[in-house]
Amino acid sequence: SIMPATLSAISNGARKGILFKGGVHLENLSHLKAIAFDKTGTLTKGKPEVTDFITKPGMDADEILLKTASIENQSAHPLATALVNYTKKRLNQTLLQPEELRDVSGWGVEAVLGSENWKIGKTAFFDQSEIAAFANGLEIQLANEGKTIVFIQRNKEIVGMVAFKDIVRSETKAAIKQLQDQGIYTIMLTGDSQATASAIAAESKVDQYIAECLPEEKVNHVKSLRDNYDNVAMVGDGINDAPALATANVGIAMGEGTDVALETADVVLMKNDLPKIAEAIELSRRMNKII
Ligand code: ADP
Ligand code: MG
Repeated sequence: SIMPATLSAISNGARKGILFKGGVHLENLSHLKAIAFDKTGTLTKGKPEVTDFITKPGMDADEILLKTASIENQSAHPLATALVNYTKKRLNQTLLQPEELRDVSGWGVEAVLGSENWKIGKTAFFDQSEIAAFANGLEIQLANEGKTIVFIQRNKEIVGMVAFKDIVRSETKAAIKQLQDQGIYTIMLTGDSQATASAIAAESKVDQYIAECLPEEKVNHVKSLRDNYDNVAMVGDGINDAPALATANVGIAMGEGTDVALETADVVLMKNDLPKIAEAIELSRRMNKII
């Protein structure tokens, strides 16, 4: 049977916009030592915008953009959505239909379009000497500003590069600080590059970050955090985050996240409100004292 103190904490939480899917999660939260956060959509707004679109000199930039957007139009990734929106504003042309498409989770997309082979995704998805020849270090410079970089390849030739900027939520820094004041260690996990992750981590003031994390690797990082910190929470919003949410002692989902994240999580924050995490911990600690 459920204790009155637990029931009261659960209903208190509900009133504050924190949904606990059971008393055991409050108990676990009260013993929390570390919290891992997904970057995109969790610490940041998850609504990236294109800031730079650069193509190889002498090439038809509009054609490259149209074809890239036509491929990304088939992907549900937030970067894909941003690129399609940018293209619709810049070009007044109907998108094309790719003949083939392969979504490579954590890396990018591959497609055949107009009998050409296209590959769009993160730097590590490509031959590094070709990247260097095309960008000459510009990608590092942009990534140091916290931008996410994506390269575009057509028939084995790098033809373009896109930079996206996603804004760190206005409440992120304060929310992280509150958790640190509660004695909790904070870590950011992201599939993004080292340079981008470093810039966002510095802005958020998390204690640690792990970059270039493939979706399946997030689970392993949460496991090793559990080995080092006993009680670990994971906060995320995406389909990709669900396995890591399930692996943590407490999985916390952003209320506007994907259905899979909401279903997998033990705790749901209504309205994506990060400061609610510290409130939830406070609530759980008070409940534990009463019990
Ligand atoms: P995160 O952990 O930041 O949410 P993901 O694991 O979803 O990131 O993706 C990691 C990286 O792979 C992205 O930063 C991007 O560079 C690349 N990527 C993934 N999907 C796409 C896509 N559809 N188009 C372009 N790049 C992509
Ligand atoms: Mg995310």
